[in-house]
Amino acid sequence: MEKLDILSMTQAELEAIVQKINQPQYRAKQLWGWLHIQRVREFAQMANLPKAMREALAEHYYIATATAVKTLVSQNDGTTKHLFAMHDSVLIESVLMKYNHGNTICISTQAGCRMGCVFCASAEGGLVRNLTAGEMCAQVYAAGTSKISGVVLMGCGEPLDNFDETLRFLHLISHPDGLNIGQRHITLSTCGLVPQILELAEHKLQITLAISLHGATDEVRQRLMPIAKRYSLTELIPACREYIKATNRRLTFEYALVKGVNDSPSHARDLVKLLRGINCHVNLIPVNKRPVPKPASGIIARNFFEMQGTADEAYSKHICKEAVTQQVGINSRKDAGMGLGNRSSARGEYSGTARKEATAFAEVLQKGRIQTTVRRSLGSDVDAACGQLRAQHRVEV
Ligand code: SAH
Repeated sequence: MEKLDILSMTQAELEAIVQKINQPQYRAKQLWGWLHIQRVREFAQMANLPKAMREALAEHYYIATATAVKTLVSQNDGTTKHLFAMHDSVLIESVLMKYNHGNTICISTQAGCRMGCVFCASAEGGLVRNLTAGEMCAQVYAAGTSKISGVVLMGCGEPLDNFDETLRFLHLISHPDGLNIGQRHITLSTCGLVPQILELAEHKLQITLAISLHGATDEVRQRLMPIAKRYSLTELIPACREYIKATNRRLTFEYALVKGVNDSPSHARDLVKLLRGINCHVNLIPVNKRPVPKPASGIIARNFFEMQGTADEAYSKHICKEAVTQQVGINSRKDAGMGLGNRSSARGEYSGTARKEATAFAEVLQKGRIQTTVRRSLGSDVDAACGQLRAQHRVEV
């Protein structure tokens, strides 16, 4: 039987596990402490648990880990980017951003992504697999001693395409007996999966929901995001309104400014029209150009996995071939409706809007009484945009 990730379990589930292996109830609290406070990586390190209990746990469960394979620290702003290997050698990344008011960590929810947004490096190679809630926690915990005051789900992957594990993660990371990150300090970003937005609304969480809009008309969105072919704005916008109504929270709209595609004053006026009357904030960010992969970049990952005793061949099979299989799977799956095909020629041709035009765009929104911020891009020297580092490491392996 395949082992389950115990770091993903709720307190109630840990209690059930403890009961099943005939241990007293208080052991569940101890177990939780080892997992979410002391954050040990092996059952053997849980010193105050009986050996028999540790062995029984190890038989059925594993503890999700995120092992840093590579760490890049931005010379400009201290942004730290980690490339992590999961227990099965799958690579993901997270970014620690340092602001005056505290540290925010941006985590991945999937290895890869099947949404296929044209400017996003995470989609390259398709979806490898979903991450468990414990693997999301492990990324936060791996930030170590840095005090984390906020978490954003904006790394690799589409959080709402991994709905149950993402929800579990939100529960675990905001738990008062754990890291206790206030839900208001958590942002979940989605490319706009309408049914899942409506489902999330029912949970009435106090997190910030960010919608990656990137276009104010279906025509523009469809050029950038395959998901826009599946869900039109006439479905997405009512779902957003419903979400605001259910949670009483202001929504964020992300708008990546792509030169010559969605960044003219007329596009800005379309956006004002679309968002009029919606309790929201718009984040404008000039799109980060995806870097051209460096030929030698696979070596670090390769050495790492040799060190771990995992054969190169097995590794490349896992990362690359599986990714290809997933792509084919999605293209042939009618209901997914977000084929990853036909975009390679368009990939990498996008560049960010210049500062002057971005400011002009923002002014149109502000005149239209839409709250707007032009975001600075942190960590541009460490490939900090989604999936950029991971993409570089996948290419040559
Ligand atoms: N899948 C989710 C979350 C991950 S991406 C989503 O689509 O929202 C987080 C944000 O970064 C999204 O708004 C995404 O569109 C944006 N993004 C991805 N690649 C980017 C790039 N190269 N430049 C600027 N923003 C990018």
